[in-house]
Amino acid sequence: MTFDTSVLTVKWGGAAGSLDADLSQSAVLDELAERHLAGERCVLVHGGSDDVNRLQERLGTPPEFLTSPSGQVSRRTDREALEAFTMATAWLNRRLVEALHLRGVSGLGLSGLDGGLVRGRRKPNVRAVVNGRVRVVRDEWTGRPEQVDGQLLGGLLDAGRLPVIAPLIGSEAGELITVDADRLAARVAAAAGSRDLVILSNVPGLLADVNDPNSRIASITPADFPRAEAAAEGRMRKKVLGAREALDAGVARVCLGDASSAAPLAGALAGLGTVFGGLVEEVAR
Ligand code: ADP
Repeated sequence: MTFDTSVLTVKWGGAAGSLDADLSQSAVLDELAERHLAGERCVLVHGGSDDVNRLQERLGTPPEFLTSPSGQVSRRTDREALEAFTMATAWLNRRLVEALHLRGVSGLGLSGLDGGLVRGRRKPNVRAVVNGRVRVVRDEWTGRPEQVDGQLLGGLLDAGRLPVIAPLIGSEAGELITVDADRLAARVAAAAGSRDLVILSNVPGLLADVNDPNSRIASITPADFPRAEAAAEGRMRKKVLGAREALDAGVARVCLGDASSAAPLAGALAGLGTVFGGLVEEVAR
């Protein structure tokens, strides 16, 4: 496998406290713009769970969450929730693109649906635990990303654009469905030939104990994944899954880092958070 080391894929934005309220002051976007303007090709994949939650509240249809029998928590995504998800992530996408333009970078906002960029499998029915019993929930408009059109992505990068990708894709049949942004970033990074995928969040890294910010695990080799899976709770489980999928698809390192640090991208790449896969020395815990 040869890596296109000039393509950096970054995942940012999702839960509350991860994305800066004022994007004009964002260190993540400053670093991204600086790298892009210096000739590095970059892709930004974003989430939006907090924005979606808040819009659903404002629309008077508060979010509902489903817990699978294995304990994975996901948003109930019926047509109404899909509509809110699409609106909230479109707004966030445009704000990110605007913030890049204000930094002199030609950001190009799109979702995985557009131009057939990302295709995946819809899961119309999911099993969820309701009042202690497993039920089938139907009319779901969510799924998982599988194929990314690397040529289309490469073409945008060759044209000097910085793609900003929202977590919506096309199903096999071409329907609009939502996907987890960490798993989407994993597929995008692999298709772009990225050596590194940086995932920025609201925690210093993967913590051995989620309640102890000093329990950061500096590195997870492929053999250590059971340890990572055991430590991760809630939404962190999706990141660990995304990291594993990225490594399986050929990405060399997945660097999980703190979006609120002074230099989030440089810090994550230097191993200040948690590095999955790469041979990085164990830094102080
Ligand atoms: P984002 O949407 O910003 O990418 P997520 O909410 O998806 O962030 O994931 C980060 C959250 O995962 C943290 O805020 C934390 O509450 C939770 N979490 C669960 N287990 C762990 C763990 N072992 N280490 C770090 N964070 C964890």
